[in-house]
Amino acid sequence: MIIRDRYAPSPTGLQHIGGIRTALFNYLFAHSPAGNGEGKFILRLEDTDRTRFDESYVQNLYDTFSWLGIKWDECPNNSGPFAPYIQSERTDHYKKYAQELLDKGQAYYCFCTAERIDEVRKQREAAHSSETGYDRFCRSIDASEAAKKAAAGEPCTVRLKIPLGEATKFNDHLLGDIEWKNDDVNPDPVLLKSDGFPTYHLANVVDDHLMEITHVLRAQEWLASTPLHVIMYKAFGWTPPQFCHLPMVMGQDGKKLSKRHGATSIDEFRKQGYLPAALLNYVALLGASYEERKDIYTLDELAQRFTLEKLNKAPAVFDYKKLEWYNGQYIRMKSDEELAELCLPYAIEANLFREESLAETQRRGGRGEEKGEERREPTEEQVKIFTAAMALVKERLVFLSEVPEKITYLFKDPEIPAAEEFIPKKCDHAQTIKLLEIGKEIIKSMAEAPNDEQAENIIKAEAEKREVKLGDLMMPLRVAITGSRVSPPLFGSLRILGAECCVNRLERVMAEFQKQGRQ
Ligand code: GLU
Repeated sequence: MIIRDRYAPSPTGLQHIGGIRTALFNYLFAHSPAGNGEGKFILRLEDTDRTRFDESYVQNLYDTFSWLGIKWDECPNNSGPFAPYIQSERTDHYKKYAQELLDKGQAYYCFCTAERIDEVRKQREAAHSSETGYDRFCRSIDASEAAKKAAAGEPCTVRLKIPLGEATKFNDHLLGDIEWKNDDVNPDPVLLKSDGFPTYHLANVVDDHLMEITHVLRAQEWLASTPLHVIMYKAFGWTPPQFCHLPMVMGQDGKKLSKRHGATSIDEFRKQGYLPAALLNYVALLGASYEERKDIYTLDELAQRFTLEKLNKAPAVFDYKKLEWYNGQYIRMKSDEELAELCLPYAIEANLFREESLAETQRRGGRGEEKGEERREPTEEQVKIFTAAMALVKERLVFLSEVPEKITYLFKDPEIPAAEEFIPKKCDHAQTIKLLEIGKEIIKSMAEAPNDEQAENIIKAEAEKREVKLGDLMMPLRVAITGSRVSPPLFGSLRILGAECCVNRLERVMAEFQKQGRQ
């Protein structure tokens, strides 16, 4: 089977979960075994609504595709950058096809002004009429008269002449055979606007035909437009593609997924620190069942398994918790170096590398003059520390953006917490001082131990010898070094910070802690 499908967004908003799911299903289908390796996924910008157009949304579309790593397979002009099809650059096509429908008597010129159309609407409202849409006022104007007026420059639109008293049938892959009475379809919609731009309906149908689209997988909200499109295919004498309207994506409360539920734009997910592969993996399962007891799929594996039969008819429910789980899984698949590279932009953004004490600068081999410099980019040494820190945080990380806050203490002396934070349960101030003193005796060798196991052996042996609980010995030490009771693993932290820094921090804390005890 030849498969040519497309994602055809209008750049009137940021790319969101629903849109990306449509794009992904089209991508997967074109690259599925059904496509015999020759399927083509096309990207087409439907930017003919100039009132809602915004260049930043076009950029957002490109950024989203590039971040997700989804590539389209065809470029209209084979020179220059690999561009998608852009409807605003193709207006001549649409004019030509609007003319063809006029010539065939399947469309007509309409000279109604916006004021007249508004007047009709008001009159209907006053009469409590249930009629909506255009009242077909210009449909009865003699075609050659109308053509003359249009040629003389009278402002006009071109409308589709919907054959009344008939029904339009089409098949939807998920919803089956569908039949609409033509009289119930949006009455004679505009195809070509007075500014010469086509409406969505004309441009969409003409392009799907010219681009030889075989399958239209799109959101179910477009279902109401499909009878109209099928009428147009018939008017042109073209064969319509196979339609497949995808069920909605909903929040846990059964309502359409929206900002109320959480992030929806892909940009927000990126900023929160999602990995593109995790997002794609999760979105590909939104409304499709792959019948395997398997959660993690690469894009290629998904494409190998994708068939239209695997799509569900029921709406998909977006589960943020499940997406978080996916992100954690993908994070743990990364090496420390890969993860560091991914997290670094978040750390720079959070100013992790900016504030550094002089002692720290010097310890890391920096020069004294660097003190006070506002530096956002990390030094080579800082990148090394940052990379080493990945092993400490990787296991529990949900978002990349969490990293800077979790490891700030590796780059900056933490503020000294209040005294009670240091005191283990069932201990008092004096006992805690003792615990810190024991810690001080072993901290250097712990920091110098080559691995966690050896550092642990040192502290265990000391706890036994001094007859104190291991937990009681660890806790104040952790607070002194990391500034918090809950921190990434202590032994690894000591190793990264180095003996000198650990001893300094402990001494600083002990001085303060003793002072507080005397007050
Ligand atoms: N331009 C429409 C949109 O913004 C495309 C609908 C379709 O795929 O036909 O979603």
